[in-house]
Amino acid sequence: MLDDLDLGRRQNVLIVEDVKLNAQILVNALQDEYDLRVASNGVEARAMVREQLPDLILLDIVMPEMDGYAVCAALQADHNTRDIPILFLTALEGDKNEAYGIELGAMDYIRKPFNVPIVKAKIRNHLELKRYKDILKRDSRIDGLTRIPNRRRFDEAYSEEVSRALRNKTPLAVLMIDLDLFKAYNDTYGHLQGDDVLKLVARTLYNTLQRPGDLIARWGGEEFVALLPQTALNGAWQVAERLRLAIYDLQIPHEASPIDRYLTISVGVASADGSDRSACEELLQRADEAVYCAKKRGRNTTVVYES
Ligand code: GH3
Ligand code: MG
Ligand code: MG
Ligand code: MG
Repeated sequence: MLDDLDLGRRQNVLIVEDVKLNAQILVNALQDEYDLRVASNGVEARAMVREQLPDLILLDIVMPEMDGYAVCAALQADHNTRDIPILFLTALEGDKNEAYGIELGAMDYIRKPFNVPIVKAKIRNHLELKRYKDILKRDSRIDGLTRIPNRRRFDEAYSEEVSRALRNKTPLAVLMIDLDLFKAYNDTYGHLQGDDVLKLVARTLYNTLQRPGDLIARWGGEEFVALLPQTALNGAWQVAERLRLAIYDLQIPHEASPIDRYLTISVGVASADGSDRSACEELLQRADEAVYCAKKRGRNTTVVYES
């Protein structure tokens, strides 16, 4: 699951340098330790960053088309790229230029001609920090017990997907998933076994969602939430039923449940059209109302919100 995110991989460095010889010196110095890409101007650099996020950027300042300051400013302004450390490498003299580069958000400013061992050591230090930051960022968005995304991660994705749905006029759906009579489960089998069930249910929900853009998160307690981009009501209902049956098929005995011999879930479904802002923003409340309704109807069922 999210632990699979490969933080132990070789890190990748983007070298942005218009003078071929300079770029080659850096490639020779770094190629044994890192995966490298080279861009020869700012426009190309930004395209390469979009294609794959580098872990660190070595950025020349004086270049044709788009200079290094402009590249740095653009990357800092975008929340997807602002955490990539940038080291300026430049022949520009003067404290003013250096101060300007650092104020734009660069981590360091190295003057040419540079000393290879010093540059290598600085890169190593910054990449080590980058790795720790990545780990922190990942862990702060993962639920500690189940190792799937947590509510914070969900909230971020939800606000991004609402914007995308409104922009592209595409539908968006949310499923609220609540384990049935789970307090009774804990009372019967103990809290530790309850924890194991939550882990198994989380993994099953995670594995049952099929489309790459779908997200499942632990909402809290024994509740989970799924975010389904570009999904209208009918499709969302089908996904909800697939999840409900996947959990039932685990055949987790639940003696104390008057509904069934196995553990069951109730699911609330809400979908909104990208042309309806308030409906998009109310998806969570609506899915929550629907799951409440599923409980009233006897649990182990999927209910669709209807306005
Ligand atoms: P309902 O069908 O109405 O949802 O009944 P319920 O018992 O599932 O609902 P209720 O809200 O009364 O209780 C939720 C229970 O979920 C209470 C708590 O013991 C259990 N729970 C919440 N978080 C955890 C957890 O992290 N581990 C375990 N083992 N149990 C948890
Ligand atoms: Mg240059
Ligand atoms: Mg609940
Ligand atoms: Mg419950």
